Amino acid sequence: MSTGALIALIVVAALVILGLLVLVAKRNASATQQKICGGCRRVMLPVWTKCLFCGWSPVAKLQFILGPMANQVLALSEERWNAVARYGEAMIAVGAAADALPALEEAYWESARQSPAYREWLERTGTSAPAPAPAAALR
Ligand SMILES: [Zn+2]
Repeated sequence: MSTGALIALIVVAALVILGLLVLVAKRNASATQQKICGGCRRVMLPVWTKCLFCGWSPVAKLQFILGPMANQVLALSEERWNAVARYGEAMIAVGAAADALPALEEAYWESARQSPAYREWLERTGTSAPAPAPAAALR
């Protein structure tokens, strides 16, 4: 085998391997696997449980497939908000409202970030600064 034919064979093999690598890379970077933030619409890494840019997190939902609530979907964030509200009421009843403020404040921001109206307000005003915290108004 001549040297020219050997070099041509190596170049062709290298091009085939390069082409396969490009195909694999394109398949892994397809748009169907990207998570898009529901708050700021930026691309989120697949391992993120919430957006590191704006703090938005997907709403957990419970879909019933059997029983009296079959084919109904329940948003768990609403149930969590109800539980946090009952916790706040209980803490106020025992005179320890200050201890409940961090949990109430966190739940407020979480629900605000899920709200389309809040996201629209952020986009319309072009601000990244949050609105005044409810706990600051209570103090
Ligand atoms: Zn975001």
